[in-house]
Amino acid sequence: MNDVIKIKLDEIKMLVTEVLQKQGCDIHNAKALAETITKAEEDGASSHGLFRLPGYVASLKSGKVNGHASPKVKNITPVILQCDADNGFASTAHEKALPMLAEAAKTNGISVLSIKGCYHFAALWPETEYLAQQNLVGVACTAFKPSVAPAGAKEAFFGTNPISMAWPRKNNFPVVFDMATATMAKGEVMIAARDGHMLPDGVGLGENGEPSNDPKEVLKGVLLPFGGYKGSAISMMVELFAAGLTGDVFSYEAQENDNNDGGPPSGGEFIMALNPEIIGDSSWEKHCEDFFQKLLSIDGVRLPGSRRHKKRSNDEYRSVNAELLSKVKSFL
Ligand code: NDP
Repeated sequence: MNDVIKIKLDEIKMLVTEVLQKQGCDIHNAKALAETITKAEEDGASSHGLFRLPGYVASLKSGKVNGHASPKVKNITPVILQCDADNGFASTAHEKALPMLAEAAKTNGISVLSIKGCYHFAALWPETEYLAQQNLVGVACTAFKPSVAPAGAKEAFFGTNPISMAWPRKNNFPVVFDMATATMAKGEVMIAARDGHMLPDGVGLGENGEPSNDPKEVLKGVLLPFGGYKGSAISMMVELFAAGLTGDVFSYEAQENDNNDGGPPSGGEFIMALNPEIIGDSSWEKHCEDFFQKLLSIDGVRLPGSRRHKKRSNDEYRSVNAELLSKVKSFL
């Protein structure tokens, strides 16, 4: 069923907050995650908005996620921060740790945050854009569960392993890319399966290990990394940053620990903030703006993030899949 219903962003936020409270979150955790979900809907990133709520609810119901999480952040050095997410959703950890990360980069030029024991099922641009809004460059990545075949293989080993970077611009939205290192995010493949759309070539292999354009087949098989062996290397880097560096689990270990309730697995997140005011020279802002303008002057080019930002400036109503909305309301 592809019917859609128009709903105000405020209503989405209220509805999600209520659902999460009803399903085991305290008000603080519910509000943090509702904010993340609403931001995704606001930007038209529907694969990581309400669409993820049934998974979040499942992970609360199964007792996997702590809906009363109270993350703790400690400074290992003035620029290295570690956050114990207390087995909660990543949004709650972000709320606590990102302001501290930003302050450390403002003072010292660079800072790194490793989040451990969190459940990340969302887009990454909320955390990198938060840093860019403070005139910092933000970089973030997280691993998942095995869903992507490394270059040369037909079996899943890497997670869909998203990576995002946000670059600040004066009086403008930051330039942000946020992408799975799979050819397509799994959520997008699930939406294609739900809505009956075929996939472009090269997204994945079916159960039999052969290339397939059918999202249902690919969901039974594996996704492929973007750009062949190059994307595969970046996906490996994400595993190393989000698990090897943070001391949390690699995707294959996350799978071993997960109860497969349909929600996210526990894992780590690596976030870095860079302060161009300290690292670069005083002309960095104009220099980079000139670069963006030069880039944009090429026919056919747009900046990553601009599609979402355009959607954000739009009106307060969003179109939501009707079946999904009724499922969300059934959790009340
Ligand atoms: P897309 O392939 O849709 O987009 C990737 C990036 O490319 C975006 O920043 C997008 O900007 C930009 N882009 C797209 N088209 C163009 C273009 N023509 N010119 C310039 N830039 C362009 O994203 P994915 O499907 O790979 O990922 C979707 C989301 O899934 C991400 O937010 C990611 O974080 C999330 N995800 C989360 C996971 C998790 O475990 N938490 C796992 C995997 C993915 P724009 O947004 O403006 O279109």
